[in-house]
Amino acid sequence: MGKVYLTGAGPGDIELLTIKALKVIKKADVIIYDRLANKEILKEAKKDCEFIYVGKEDGKHILPQEQINEVLFECAKKYDVVVRLKGGDPFVFGRGGEEGIFLKERGIEFEVIPGVTSAISVPAYAGIPVTHRGVAVSFRVVTGHEAPNKEHSQIDWNSFKYDETIVFLMGLHNLKNIATKLMQIGKSPKTPCAVISKGTFKEQKVVVGTLEDIYEKVQEAKLQTPALIVVGKVVDLREKLKWFK
Ligand code: SAH
Repeated sequence: MGKVYLTGAGPGDIELLTIKALKVIKKADVIIYDRLANKEILKEAKKDCEFIYVGKEDGKHILPQEQINEVLFECAKKYDVVVRLKGGDPFVFGRGGEEGIFLKERGIEFEVIPGVTSAISVPAYAGIPVTHRGVAVSFRVVTGHEAPNKEHSQIDWNSFKYDETIVFLMGLHNLKNIATKLMQIGKSPKTPCAVISKGTFKEQKVVVGTLEDIYEKVQEAKLQTPALIVVGKVVDLREKLKWFK
C-alpha cells in the first residue's frame, strides 16, 4: 500500500508552493489534482507520473467526493507515492479532512502538507493585510457558498456586526446577498469591501468598493472565479500597500 499526501498547492503563484510540497510532487507516481491547483506545478513531476483531474468545471464536479475517495484508494493500492493536490491549503474548505478520514478508515497511511491559503495570501497580493494594529485585531474566513437567507444557517450572521476582517471564499455568485445581509444586521453601507479575482496569478484583478456598491462594481468589471471577498476597514490600507503589478 502506498502513502497519500494531502498537499496544498498554494493560491496560484507557483513560487508560493512549499518546499515540502515540491519534494513530494517530484517523486509522485500519481497526482490527483483540482481545478484550483496551478497546472504549471505538474511540470515539476517526473516523466512517467500519472495525472488524474478530478476538479470542478462551472460548479459541476467532474467526480463526486465519494468517487474521488475511491480514486485515492485505488491509487494507493497501485502506487507508492500518491499526491492529492489541492488549491491553497487542503484543510481550508478543501475537503482534505473528509479525504483523510476516509483514508484512515481504509487503513491507508497519509500525510498532510499544508499550503498557503488563498484566504490570507490573495488579500496580501492585493495589498490588504487581514489584521492591522488599530484597524482589525481578528479575521474570519467564512464560506460564501451558503445563501444568507437560508433557514437553518450554521453561520451566525449577527456576530458579524463587530469590526473585524471577514474573508468570504466561494462567494462571488452570492455577493449581492452577502452585502445585503451584512447591511441588514447593522454594518454600515460604507464598510470597505474588496473582491479579488485570480489572486496571485498575473491575471489578478481587484475591485474595491463599499457594501452598498460592491456588487454593481464587480458586475461592471466582469470578474471571474476564483474570487474572494474581503470586508472590513483593512481594505482601505490597499491605497498605501498596493504592490503587485
Ligand atoms: N483550499 C483553498 C480554498 C478552497 S475553496 C484555500 O485554502 O485557498 C475555493 C475558493 O477559494 C474560491 O471560490 C475562492 O473564493 C478562493 N480562492 C482560491 N484561490 C483563489 C485565487 N487565486 N484568487 C481568488 N480566490 C481564490
